[in-house]
Amino acid sequence: MFYISTRGGGARVTSAQTITRGISEDGGLFVPPEIPRISADDIKMLSTLDYKSRAKFILPLYLTDFSGDEINKCVDSAYSCESFGSEKTAPVVRLEEGVSILELWKGPTCAFKDMALQLLPHLLAVSAKKAADGKKIVILVATSGDTGKAALEGFRDVPDTKIAVFFPNDGVSPMQRLQMTTQEGGNVFVQAIKGNFDDAQNGVKSIFADKEANERLAQRGMMFSSANSINWGRLVPQIVYYISAYCDLVADKSIKNGDKINIVVPTGNFGNILAAYYAREMGLPVNKLICASNKNNVLTDFISTGRYDRRRDFFVTSSPSMDILISSNLERLLFLLCGYDGAQVRSWMKSLSDTGAYDVGEHLKEKIGTIFDAGCCDDEGTKALIKKVFESRGYLCDTHTAVAVDVYYKYRERTGDKTPAVIASTASPFKFCSSVLDALDARAKEKLDEFQMLDALEKLTGVPCPPQLKELKNKTVRFGGVCELGDMKQTVIKSVVG
Ligand SMILES: *Cc1c(COP(=O)(O)O)cnc(C)c1O
Repeated sequence: MFYISTRGGGARVTSAQTITRGISEDGGLFVPPEIPRISADDIKMLSTLDYKSRAKFILPLYLTDFSGDEINKCVDSAYSCESFGSEKTAPVVRLEEGVSILELWKGPTCAFKDMALQLLPHLLAVSAKKAADGKKIVILVATSGDTGKAALEGFRDVPDTKIAVFFPNDGVSPMQRLQMTTQEGGNVFVQAIKGNFDDAQNGVKSIFADKEANERLAQRGMMFSSANSINWGRLVPQIVYYISAYCDLVADKSIKNGDKINIVVPTGNFGNILAAYYAREMGLPVNKLICASNKNNVLTDFISTGRYDRRRDFFVTSSPSMDILISSNLERLLFLLCGYDGAQVRSWMKSLSDTGAYDVGEHLKEKIGTIFDAGCCDDEGTKALIKKVFESRGYLCDTHTAVAVDVYYKYRERTGDKTPAVIASTASPFKFCSSVLDALDARAKEKLDEFQMLDALEKLTGVPCPPQLKELKNKTVRFGGVCELGDMKQTVIKSVVG
């Protein structure tokens, strides 16, 4: 299988090459030239297996240049019991009759990004052997919080890789800062910078393109790579858990094999919901994919009008990982839906960067509407939903998951569609403890620090806090200090390249 670019140019490359390169040379994103299929018999068989075995069946359909043995080793290293707490890896829990929650946050950083970032480093190390002369990989990440920590945990002590993460000194929560600055591992480096997230991002981009830095790396048999969410190596692990959730529902007889489900996803960059679309196109019986946004509802508008327009106010919300106005992975969906017409996608993306908007036209809008539905929920709605679901069902949602549950209830009311639903839950409620506590009891968090809030939420709800968040309190800060923007490159050369 040779991957192609969504913009119609660039070389056709193996999956190992897509993973080491990240993005195509024409600026497009890599996609497989066709979508592999799974049958009802495959699903029946997978229903009897554990998560790792399901991954070992699905991943080779896309990573056709990996040997079975290579994939098995990657999967075993990524989804160990030590990292995910149990064999379940991505458990499905019942919220009410016909509504299930797919918990994607059992990994080391308590957010769904672990599902991909625990596997990607292993895929990347194998890919570099195949596609980059065995060079060592140096990952550079600019982060506004969650991705940096998940990448650090994923890459920590993975042989032949190093990772450097930059975060804005004033732009992350106290908990997120501690998660990163106490990071353990012999191949990790973390640095706060004077500037905001965009400054960090621009700094990293200029190091990627810097001649001196690249030469220094090459002399030491290393190369830069990226772990951001447009890398195919982050998308493909996410397809697995939607198929796995369906298999779990079949296995516990909540549905019959062949019954359709709806899938609801709290969406930012459109990566997680795109993986659900791939699962549907592979043959998973899915009726509607429901795209849930917070007050930054550019996708809700796009799905209902066919017009994508980023020229609008940006809101900081209580579900910060969905505060996004450019959903990069939407480009892949457009390419698939317009019949792999790279020239067409190129012109929409040009319009987006020139004018801030594009319009896909009536025909494509209707096609999108047969597959997707969409809705949004603001901070007030998020708070109310967390309280309502906890009080009526005893289930504690984080703020991102709450957006999805709220959008689902509104969808079901509007359409009367009672198809069994799976709602993706993307973070532990303790990861966004302050907002969750506030939703349950407006006065509960008064005068408490971050760690006292974890205890207070535990006490108030009886839900146990993931130990890795509590343990942060006793960890040593390994990466202190703040660096000037202009010093980022020298910092990388000195501290990472050596
Ligand atoms: C990243 C993230 C999202 C958004 O996922 P996309 O793939 O960007 O759509 C939602 N919830 C949480 C907790 C996240 O960290």
